[in-house]
Amino acid sequence: MTPSYLKRLAVLCSILAISGCGTTSSKDSGGTSDGLLVVNPKLSIIQGPASAGVEARKQPISILVLHHTASSLPSALDTLQGRTKGHKVGVHYLVSAEAPKARIFRMCPDSLAAFHAGKSAWGKFESLNQSSLGIEIVNYDGNINPYPQPQVEAVLALAQHLVTTHQISPENVVAHSDIAVGRKIDPGSLFPWEYFAANGVGAWPDAKDVQVFRILLKSKKLTNPEIQQLLRAYGYRLDDNTDKTLGLAIEAFQRHFRAAKVDGVADDDTVAILQALVKKYRSAPAKAATPAPSRRV
Ligand SMILES: [Zn+2]
Repeated sequence: MTPSYLKRLAVLCSILAISGCGTTSSKDSGGTSDGLLVVNPKLSIIQGPASAGVEARKQPISILVLHHTASSLPSALDTLQGRTKGHKVGVHYLVSAEAPKARIFRMCPDSLAAFHAGKSAWGKFESLNQSSLGIEIVNYDGNINPYPQPQVEAVLALAQHLVTTHQISPENVVAHSDIAVGRKIDPGSLFPWEYFAANGVGAWPDAKDVQVFRILLKSKKLTNPEIQQLLRAYGYRLDDNTDKTLGLAIEAFQRHFRAAKVDGVADDDTVAILQALVKKYRSAPAKAATPAPSRRV
């Protein structure tokens, strides 16, 4: 990042600290002072430049979507402000990759809907821009580049604040790749979902359940229709029942919950994790998907 760029950003921030980028509501992340909102000792938010792709929100906030930018911070800021060609895009928060402390920019208030999800679906929700908040995390590809710890801590503090403020349930903290099966791969398999879940953000299966399901699968495999049913029960949108679509949905699932091997193959480990998640967070679609209560390991 160049000094002149930083200067330009500082000017923009100071202007927007005065004007904001839209309306605010009591459910937004508090008030600002000198462009910096200090939510708690771990979370300070900079009032950033206004995101271009926003509109009035007509649905309550139910979902938090995480993204990687696939670009540098300056490039992401340009895109989010509508300075690059193409569709208007927008997002609520942008988190830099800087050390020792990542910066969090608020690009539009939570009370507005931002154009970050695109064609998307999750459970009963369609076109998630209206029902979600978005966080863009600066990383060229989170399937290749690990997220630096200062950035992880910044995103975690922000996400903890957002899920608490808007009462977003664990299974509704999702990857862009979860809600746009076969179309998106962000924030990637290196995003630390398990660490987030251990710190109160997002879903993660109970290891004991996974172990039980894994043992049961050794004697009885699930059929493709049963696996499709489980994926749909958890939230994934499969547009058809073809093997290709099933493979893409499994790949998205693995990117989030079984990052050690993302190959689109519904092996026992992957299916056991899926069954454990459905058991924990969604009502099981079929009795066959739940281990008998009498079984012990
Ligand atoms: Zn994305």
